[in-house]
Amino acid sequence: MARVLILDATYEKMREAVDAVFERFPLDVAGKTVLLKPNMVGMYEPETHANTHPAVITALVERLRQDGATVTVGDNPGTSGYGAVEKSARISGLMEASLGAFENIARESRRVKLIGHDVEVNISRKVLETDVLISVPKFKTHVMTRNTGAIKNSYGFLVGGDKARLHLAYPRYPVFSEMVTEVYRLRVPDLIVMDAVVGIQGNGPQNKFLYHAGKLMASDNGVAMDSVMSRMMGMKPETIRSIEYAHELGLGPIAAEEIEVEGDASRLKRFRRPVPSIPQRFSGTWIMAFFPDIGRPRFDVDEYVCTSCRSCADICPAGAITVEKKGAPEYDYEKCIACYCCMELCPQTALHLHETFRTRLYRRLGYM
Ligand code: SF4
Ligand code: SF4
Repeated sequence: MARVLILDATYEKMREAVDAVFERFPLDVAGKTVLLKPNMVGMYEPETHANTHPAVITALVERLRQDGATVTVGDNPGTSGYGAVEKSARISGLMEASLGAFENIARESRRVKLIGHDVEVNISRKVLETDVLISVPKFKTHVMTRNTGAIKNSYGFLVGGDKARLHLAYPRYPVFSEMVTEVYRLRVPDLIVMDAVVGIQGNGPQNKFLYHAGKLMASDNGVAMDSVMSRMMGMKPETIRSIEYAHELGLGPIAAEEIEVEGDASRLKRFRRPVPSIPQRFSGTWIMAFFPDIGRPRFDVDEYVCTSCRSCADICPAGAITVEKKGAPEYDYEKCIACYCCMELCPQTALHLHETFRTRLYRRLGYM
């Protein structure tokens, strides 16, 4: 039976929590290579909680070295451009937290076919060659995929422009979520340690709505982990396509009675869920051909904090954004495929979903 452990934890005493994880999930790592795969979305400082917190990585590196492992810490952030990986690692604190184990895993990649699909992707060689893979996601919501836990963390296996390429090729929410799961399936993690000390709620994966859950979670199964996380967030796991699809593929259980939980997995009080994404349900369907505006998000730009860095334009897989010198981004919504990458990767958090009557109503009702 898949197991999920939920511990009370703080960043200050993270090593104690990590030691408790290894007591319940002992791993034989002596003399082996271990890859720690944090959720390093981009160039965000630790206080934003957009990335896995550095304290979790330091505690894991220390513990694994003590157990005799050769540890590497690495991820492929969504941010593109020369030096983006190192810069993301420095700003997020993950470089320093890795105690010399951080590596740019984008440097060497292999082209592999997604199982059962005629789709090839480039993934970090390290992911395929490591003896032990430990996924270290963050407890976060996601406006497109509903939440981003163990399964979605594996999307960072993809190197370079492949993340954007899959977004463009599979813009609809359900199919894109299936592709995310297919990437997860390329190398299922041996252990998942989730940073749920401070998570993100509402329209994640990156915003100012932090949620202090005070937990460190661990599991030997990513589907079980994401199912428990979803219930804690107030969402049914079977309504989240990445989890449902992973279950259909036989990668793990969804039903509560098939998961052994140790710790308090009750629904978090006043946790804001993401607004069910109408744009993602309709984008790429025939409905969009007749009613193109129904499926497109609109973004508001906070011009006071935008630095005209062009990250949003560079990352947009559809080429829908232009940024003039010293200007704010301008959107060509007819090209937008509603992937939300611009909002996710703006280093200044300057992009926000435009409030509609529906989102205002949901917020009033305490739903988001
Ligand atoms: S909106 Fe954000 S990502 Fe885009 S140019 Fe401004 S600061 Fe950069
Ligand atoms: S404009 Fe933003 S949401 Fe639309 S396709 Fe580009 S990155 Fe994605």
